[in-house]
Amino acid sequence: MTELPSSEFDEPTSEGPLLLLAEDNELNVETFADYLEFMGYGLVLAKNGEEAIAIAKAHKPDLIVMDIHMPGMDGLEAIRQIRAERQTAHMPIIALTALAMPGDRERCLAAGANNYLAKPVRLKELLGVIQQLLRVDF
Ligand code: MN
Repeated sequence: MTELPSSEFDEPTSEGPLLLLAEDNELNVETFADYLEFMGYGLVLAKNGEEAIAIAKAHKPDLIVMDIHMPGMDGLEAIRQIRAERQTAHMPIIALTALAMPGDRERCLAAGANNYLAKPVRLKELLGVIQQLLRVDF
């Protein structure tokens, strides 16, 4: 897998609602980002929990899509820390897990996620959850 410097991902790429996509799998990033940009969303990207927290603070996204399984700080810990900080605590978060394991949903919601999707994620389903949370929270 090619590691691209984070700086290439830091700037929003569209004028719509801004989404932070925290995902370490490059193929998923490309698939989700292409689709969501096409649907009019702006995107900022992170590849681990530490980056997700830093970018959430720096860019104040309207919503966060958080992969749980990432190297370094995982998504659950990142969600907990985002919820614990006043400047990021309110941000809607959709958690993504690679395998639908018993208890995954409960762990994600307990950490502070608003919703949860098991991979493989259908793009229309992801879009529907994003739209639902943006309507509710903004
Ligand atoms: Mn992952």
